[in-house]
Amino acid sequence: MTNEKFIEQVSTLAKFLKTHCNDKHLDEAKKEIGIDLFYKGENLNFMVSTTLCKECEELFRYTHQRLLECSHEIKPSCRKCPHPCYERDRWKQMAKIMRYSGIKLGLIKIKNLLKF
Ligand SMILES: [Zn+2]
Repeated sequence: MTNEKFIEQVSTLAKFLKTHCNDKHLDEAKKEIGIDLFYKGENLNFMVSTTLCKECEELFRYTHQRLLECSHEIKPSCRKCPHPCYERDRWKQMAKIMRYSGIKLGLIKIKNLLKF
């Protein structure tokens, strides 16, 4: 995917995870997280920041890593991907979060936005 697309995807992930974490993990300690984006060896000079609990941070780093390793030039919807790269449990966890935050944020075109 293009650098712009990569930035957009990671930013969207950060936003969706934060929305879910804010509502569902009220009692967890949260911290600010910033990831400097590199893609295909190039520094994109773009930092994605968000606020998450420990569990969600781990998930964020995992999904970021999966995106980094996504080999598709034009990323298909993960649901339709011929080579799904998520572990099953992580996938279920993410699908739940994307659905929750997608509805909450009122993003009708969520599928087009993230292609998750
Ligand atoms: Zn959380």
